[in-house]
Amino acid sequence: MKKGKKLYEGKAKIIYTTTDKNLVIQYFKDDATAFNNLKKSKIEGKGVLNNRISEHILNNINQIGIKTHLIKRLNMREQLIELCEIFPVEFIVRNIATGSLTKRLGIADGAVLKKPLIEFSYKNDDLGDPVVSKEHILEFGWVDNPETLDAIIYKCFRINDFMQGMFRGVNIKLVDFKLEFGRSTIDRKILLADEISPDTCRLWDVSSEKKLDKDRFRKDLGNIIQAYQEVARR
Ligand code: 5GP
Repeated sequence: MKKGKKLYEGKAKIIYTTTDKNLVIQYFKDDATAFNNLKKSKIEGKGVLNNRISEHILNNINQIGIKTHLIKRLNMREQLIELCEIFPVEFIVRNIATGSLTKRLGIADGAVLKKPLIEFSYKNDDLGDPVVSKEHILEFGWVDNPETLDAIIYKCFRINDFMQGMFRGVNIKLVDFKLEFGRSTIDRKILLADEISPDTCRLWDVSSEKKLDKDRFRKDLGNIIQAYQEVARR
């Protein structure tokens, strides 16, 4: 599969065309951004770790019957993936209150939620990815119909159950995470897309509550790469 031209460049990844119009290459950069691009840095080796961690998690999710865009990891920084039309919605699942939830609603940081909570935000950098409701998503056609949206929400909770168990097994609490979905350009099926990594999840060590995720960058806690390595190792 030959790599072609750059199709899209995001904050942490680049998408390249291939000789097959329905397959693309996802390249993981070392760039880190936070607070809607206000904070930027390069973290040497982050892309390599996220490529590995995301490959591992998406392969496992495939095995529980949820289709993902991942075909295979190609090398240290690249994956071959199915091209998707991404729904412009971030699906955020939370098990413990922290981050924007506590800021927005004044909830105590670290409060364990009675059951997993799902939130949606509209993917739009100019607007700062605002939180939206199901009704917004359907009214503005960001997801085409209520059945598709319900199917995606169901997958989000299944993925949460699976990932909570997986991380618990290596003494990590899955605090919250963000998912993105799209429609395959091959058969229009819904696929889990993007990546799942310490860039997109909050992960706390079970006993020490040490943060093992991108909050180390957001909050200037240091030892970012060591934390990502720890997640990959476990
Ligand atoms: P919060 O809304 O508290 O900032 O984020 C909730 C969860 O979703 C965190 O695990 C965070 O990493 C993830 N998340 C939310 N928005 C984004 C985003 O735009 N990019 C990335 N990489 N993760 C996000």
